[in-house]
Amino acid sequence: MISARTGYGDGARGRFGGEASRGYLEVRWIVLAAVVLVLGATGAAARWTLVRLQRARECEQHLHQIYLALEWYQAQHGELPHLAMYPAEKYAPDSLIRCLKDMGFPEELALCPESARLIRERGVSYLWNPRLNGLRLGSVPRTWMLVEINALEPQTYPKPHFGAYQVLFTDGTVRRTKRPPWALAAEK
Ligand SMILES: [Zn+2]
Repeated sequence: MISARTGYGDGARGRFGGEASRGYLEVRWIVLAAVVLVLGATGAAARWTLVRLQRARECEQHLHQIYLALEWYQAQHGELPHLAMYPAEKYAPDSLIRCLKDMGFPEELALCPESARLIRERGVSYLWNPRLNGLRLGSVPRTWMLVEINALEPQTYPKPHFGAYQVLFTDGTVRRTKRPPWALAAEK
């Protein structure tokens, strides 16, 4: 209508309007691309969170199964095994992974699914509470049995599960804690 009233032809509108239209289209494409990128990144972040949640759940299941294995060990030997907090070698006689392996359990059980490759190769993913060596479940006060190895040096290694460690206690429960269990015990 404006062009008809002002006398400027479609050519003029087409020339200026066309450039404006192309510019508008370009902006639209840029905005659309940005939206797709953000949505894609959000989707990837959501998927990554799901993977980490799944690993945390598997870690908890590992700890529950290790507890059952240790109960079975106690039923066979009359007491808990004598294990090192941090064994010198992966398959040392006093390593958790060796203890589980000797009982016929898969090695994977002794590894937190969230632990780094080097930790997995080293085979020591959970720290054992050596104060429990030779004691009997059911006759010891509630205390920690296993905790993620990252708790050994909290300043150096990040907490593996959303800012928390998973801890197995002598009553068979698995809890998440933001501080190493021995630090919690010292506060009591
Ligand atoms: Zn874990």
